[in-house]
Amino acid sequence: MSRNRILPVSFEVYPPKRPEGLTGLQESIRTLDQANPDFISVTFGAGGSSTKDSLEVLSFIRDNSSATPLAHLTCVGTTKNQARALVESFLAEGITDFLALRGDLPEGSSEHHGELEHATDLIALIQESIGEPSGEEHIAVAAFPNGHPESKSLDHDIETLLAKQSLGATLAITQLFFFSSDYEHFVEKSRAAGVTIPILPGIMPVTSLGRLARVLELTGEKEPKGLASSLAACESAAQAHQVGIDWSASMVSELVEMGAPGIHLYAFNQHATVLSVLEQAGVR
Ligand code: FAD
Repeated sequence: MSRNRILPVSFEVYPPKRPEGLTGLQESIRTLDQANPDFISVTFGAGGSSTKDSLEVLSFIRDNSSATPLAHLTCVGTTKNQARALVESFLAEGITDFLALRGDLPEGSSEHHGELEHATDLIALIQESIGEPSGEEHIAVAAFPNGHPESKSLDHDIETLLAKQSLGATLAITQLFFFSSDYEHFVEKSRAAGVTIPILPGIMPVTSLGRLARVLELTGEKEPKGLASSLAACESAAQAHQVGIDWSASMVSELVEMGAPGIHLYAFNQHATVLSVLEQAGVR
């Protein structure tokens, strides 16, 4: 997916929760596009968004930016026929780049629902729906530098990533993390196990204590004590905002030093914050 000669960057956005949010998101996408991102990915299902919502944003990216639109797809709770119809509806719109995910299990459930148990099942189904590849199609997958909350061990996560690679995934995007050493350790272990695909670090600027709590709850990551205490010491929202940008920008600088193949930013539909991170890290 890499087209830039300078370090590739990419962004994740989500479909707006209300129709009135669409215009603001479209403005954000136009502004993000000025950083010349390789791709802009659009979340799926998270926050109750529908296929139509995702497709609307993906089509906007396709028609109004130079970035490749990358569609997140989840398979939890669906039948094979439903998932196949879903993939085909994206392909029919000319969307050929996917992030194949399982999705989160419904709250309070440890049981798998539906006919597709893991992201690996969805990768296979996407391949099947594509049929004869034209060379335009790419399948990315999720990776977890600090382990997925359901995994027995980090080794188990790396085995999962290897299985995704064997099925044809060509890119991994990581869950957010707070220390660049977590990424370095994960990449070293993955390479030693035979993972060869690029592993793109996913960075989320966390600009308030409230957001930190929410993000830890959603991802199961451990609290980064230094960031939490710096945010707690702030006397204004503006100061906390800058603390979050500083933390992410210094991680980005370290990741670039480590040779990361690019930087993926969870934009939270707030273009100014992620663009400040890139600017402060000297990446754009
Ligand atoms: P899987 O790869 O299926 O892994 C889930 C667990 O099962 C892991 O513990 C894994 O090790 C294990 N496992 C996998 N395959 C096997 C196997 N064959 N045998 C045994 N165990 C196995 N969620 C959304 O709802 N919408 C989004 O748009 C979205 N975007 C995301 C983007 C990124 C970059 C990331 C990192 C996460 C995103 N998520 C999203 C969250 C994601 O859906 C959850 O983290 C989910 O719990 C796991 O998804 P997965 O694709 O990694 O699942």
